[in-house]
Formats: sequence, structure tokens, C-alpha cells
Amino acid sequence: MALALGMAAGLRAAPDPNWIDHDRDRPMATVIDPGTSSTPEVPGKAPSDATVLFDGTDKSAWVALDGSPTKWIVHDGALECVPGSGYVRTLQSFGDCQLHIEWAAPNPPHGVSQDRGNSGVFFGYDRYECQVLDSYQSKTYADGAAAAIYGQYPPLVNAARPPGQWQTYDIIWTAPRFDADGKLLSKARETVIHNGVLVQNNVELTGPTGWINRIPYSAHPERLPIALQDHGHPVRYRNVWVRELGSPRHKEFMLPESVLASYVGDYGKPKGSVAAVRRLPDGLLSLNFADRPLVMHAESPTHFYALSTDVQCDFDVKGAAKTVIITVGQDSEGMKYETPPEVAAPTAPAVPAAPAAAAVAPVPAAIPPPAAATPAH
Ligand code: MG
Repeated sequence: MALALGMAAGLRAAPDPNWIDHDRDRPMATVIDPGTSSTPEVPGKAPSDATVLFDGTDKSAWVALDGSPTKWIVHDGALECVPGSGYVRTLQSFGDCQLHIEWAAPNPPHGVSQDRGNSGVFFGYDRYECQVLDSYQSKTYADGAAAAIYGQYPPLVNAARPPGQWQTYDIIWTAPRFDADGKLLSKARETVIHNGVLVQNNVELTGPTGWINRIPYSAHPERLPIALQDHGHPVRYRNVWVRELGSPRHKEFMLPESVLASYVGDYGKPKGSVAAVRRLPDGLLSLNFADRPLVMHAESPTHFYALSTDVQCDFDVKGAAKTVIITVGQDSEGMKYETPPEVAAPTAPAVPAAPAAAAVAPVPAAIPPPAAATPAH
């Protein structure tokens, strides 16, 4: 709790009391190349410490919500929504961050109000939408216009450019925080600069964004993918990059459902102990060994780590043979567990029901999306 509260308090900037004024021993900021700004004709260059999510040619950072390949297309230097193909999301997860993204509404425009160049930039998987919409000389309700926090905050001004022209969002996202029991510690906050103009000034979100109704917060991981909405319009995106704020020790990814499912099972050691792996929501796994349940986050397609203690594990799946090597701290050489376990009685699952181990792990039915903003606009 103290750690969680500390994190929440850390969201408010304050001088670090560990340093005196003008302290000569205080380290200087890391030097980076700030990149270049875009012009309407030419996309800019990302800062050197950014993670580039789309450079005009490579869409490999993006997948469908379930982690399968996206049907959105790369065309003329842009990532373009294919209507009806579903949202895209980043494979990597992000908590507090700075996001730069450029978009263009279809030209010539079609439709009116919400049915005109509609898409959206979502944080928290599909929970929190900053509206993308053709708001140039086009009316809609105020809290659904371009750069609105959908259903909650209209933009301070309408800084929209005409359809077909490239527009920029620079967004500072502060993720909500929850304690281990799922209690909300601090709400999400968002600052949005649209075409260089401040339009959302560190607003506090009431919860996930939603259509017609106000959705309360429900606990979720701090880091989750960023998603772009398919609202049935071929909106285009270019020059997308993100900078994670803070100093996370590990990267984190939300792996495809099929990959996560392949790791589920009961793994055994010759001396009879069992490690049980189960699915959790939001791309997480539970690892239960030595009667200790741990929540595991993916750092790569095969490597997972716990946040609460330095336990890490590596999966190796070759058909019916599956192994997981668990390491505790830096001194551990790793404990190898294999499936099928040699012991008869597996440990009772410590988490909600999940697919049982199988020779070839089946791809489960799509896990219900998190309680979130559906339908969203
Ligand atoms: Mg939208």
C-alpha cells in the first residue's frame, strides 16, 4: 500500500528532497536527439529515445485486439483503417507516456457528425478514447468532437484542419492506479495538444469513455496497449511514436491469445512439485509454484516476470513437450518444470478457470474484452 500510495503521490511534480538547490553532484539529464517536427508534406523524425510505432512502412508494432495480424493496410506512407476489420493495438504495453500521432480524415469527406472521419486513440487497451473525427466545419456534440475525451471533455478550442490534411496529436497520458485489491488510488489524466494547440489541459478522467453512459473505473494493469479505433471510416495515420515516462525496468507486451494459451498447463519436477500456469485478463498469466501465486507480465514472446518479487520464467513449447524454467533472483540457475507433470495430482488452480493443459494447446475462444468502452465513438 505504501508503495502504491507513493506511486500515486509521485504523479505530482515536486522537487526531490534528496538534492539541495543547485546541487553540483546532481546528475544532468540524459542527452537525446529531439528529432524534427513534421510539415504537411513530410513527416518529422522521432526523438532518439522514442519507441517508433509506425514509420510509414512497417506495421509490425500493431496487431488486432486479440493479437492476431491486423488487416489495416500500409498505403502511401500511412497506416490506414480498413472498415470492418476491427481496432488495431500495439503489441507493446505502455503506462504513463508521451504519444505523438498524426492522422488524416478521408477526403472528400463523407457523412455528418459522428459518421464523418471517425476513429480514436485509446489508452488502456480499449478503455479511454481521445476522439479522432473530421471536425472541420462539421457539427457534432461537443464532447464527441476531434480531440474530445469522448463523452467527458470537449476540446478547449476546435483546432481541426480540413479533411485530407495531416493533423497532429501530442498526448501526455497518466494511467490510473489501483491497489492490489483493485481499489482506485488515482484517476487517469490526459493532456492533448492538437496541431500545436493545447486542447486538453491535464484533465482527470471520470472512468473509461463510453457512448450514452458513464462507465466507472475497474482495476486493470498500469501498462496496456494503445489502440486505434475502426469506426467504419478509412482514417489514415502516420509518424507514430511514444516515449515511456518513468524508468520501467522491463518492457511489457500483450502477447497474442494463441501464444498465451499455449503456455497454460501444469508443469512438474521429478521430485513432485508442480508449477501451474493459468490465464488472467489483460494479457497476463498466473504462475503458481511453491504454493505462491504470482502475476506474470510478458517481456518477450517467451520471457515473463513478476512485479511483486524477482521471479522470472521462460517458456519453451515444442508440440506436446512444454517446459518452463523459473528463476528467483540473480543467484538462481533456474528450476526446470516440464509437462506433462510426472506427479498425479496437480495443484489446485489459484486463479479463475482457464483452459487445461493439452498436447497442442487449443486457441481459446476470444477472452471477453475488459469491462470497457464498448460501444465507443
Ligand atoms: Mg471515435
